[in-house]
Amino acid sequence: MRKAFDHVLWGDPVSAASLPRAEAVVDLAAVRHNVRLLASRAAASGSETMVVVKADAYGHGAVPVARAALDAGATWLGVASLDEALALREAGITSRLLSWLDTPDVDFTAAVRSDIDVSVSSAGELTRVADAAGEIGRRARIHLKIDTGLSRNGCPAERWPGLVKAASAEENVEVVGLWSHLACADEPGHPSIDTQARRFAAAYDVAREAGLSPLRHLANSAATLTRPDLHFDLVRPGIAVYGLNPVPQQEEDLRPAMTFRSSVVLTKRVSAGESVSYGHTWTAARDTTLALVPVGYADGVPRTLSGRMSVWLGGVRRPVAGRVCMDQLVVDCGDDEPELGAEVVLFGTGEGGMPTATEWADTIGTIDYEIVTGMYRPRVRRRYVGVDSV
Ligand SMILES: *Cc1c(COP(=O)(O)O)cnc(C)c1O
Repeated sequence: MRKAFDHVLWGDPVSAASLPRAEAVVDLAAVRHNVRLLASRAAASGSETMVVVKADAYGHGAVPVARAALDAGATWLGVASLDEALALREAGITSRLLSWLDTPDVDFTAAVRSDIDVSVSSAGELTRVADAAGEIGRRARIHLKIDTGLSRNGCPAERWPGLVKAASAEENVEVVGLWSHLACADEPGHPSIDTQARRFAAAYDVAREAGLSPLRHLANSAATLTRPDLHFDLVRPGIAVYGLNPVPQQEEDLRPAMTFRSSVVLTKRVSAGESVSYGHTWTAARDTTLALVPVGYADGVPRTLSGRMSVWLGGVRRPVAGRVCMDQLVVDCGDDEPELGAEVVLFGTGEGGMPTATEWADTIGTIDYEIVTGMYRPRVRRRYVGVDSV
């Protein structure tokens, strides 16, 4: 078994053994299941899988998720910044690794030394990478990024031939990849997808004419699931690895990996007419039992869910009464009296009807990406289950 998995719990050992106050439980068996599903779709089109573990694996923990992903068939990892890539290398992860977005002052010698592939979107960036490689006498591995219509990073089409020419003439770099990113892959049939695919093909032709034969990669989770024709050599799923489906209209056997839970710390009976929490936005319609739960917006429960959320307590959903505070919220239990220390699931797999991160996102008008990524907070303890490979 893998040694580094031994530290399955963050936080000090005393609190680790205690009841959860704010705890994100990450099921690595679910991660492995999801990666196997995605990698088998990729393999069906002859493609490999780069699992995206940026932003500390969307709040799930980059190192444990990376190990689980590699175990389940991923061959590449992708991160946004060189710091994230170096942290994976420091943890002993030796897989292919691409880093794609840094500030102009970043020291690329660290990337070259640590065998990290980097993305290049401009001539200036190419020069900086090549100079860094030259400085330590090694070739840098680069992926040229073409902007096919997202208009974020990536090289604009009119500068592409120049960038390709410069990169192919630069002896300190090896162009191993050509890539781009889709704007609307989560809306299957959106016309921009085919437009971007056409521009991607044109960019590839330019690279081939310059004598390059780079790997191509374009597909995020949504395109991995819905557009096998766009898998090319490598797919780059992120959100689906964590069990959240970016294309809900197409049902997939994905398992949400994160469960956010807490415990009941106090119960009390209040009379009809009593109001709850700041602003007294909720008033008991009848005598009822309230349960206090020590999580709030400092722990990742959006305050905008006030009056619009319920929790899973004792095998049923119960509404949250009144406003979500910084450190606590109050659950209306009617005539039930939960035990002190009883588990409260804020969001999880959805099994049996429990709330999900996707439900939270839909309620407040965001995406589940933001909910789970937002669970990376000092006060939220992270615990790993499903650690052992099966
Ligand atoms: C985040 C990201 C991905 C993964 O996107 P998902 O929608 O989470 O699958 C892929 N490629 C790039 C460039 C990204 O920034």
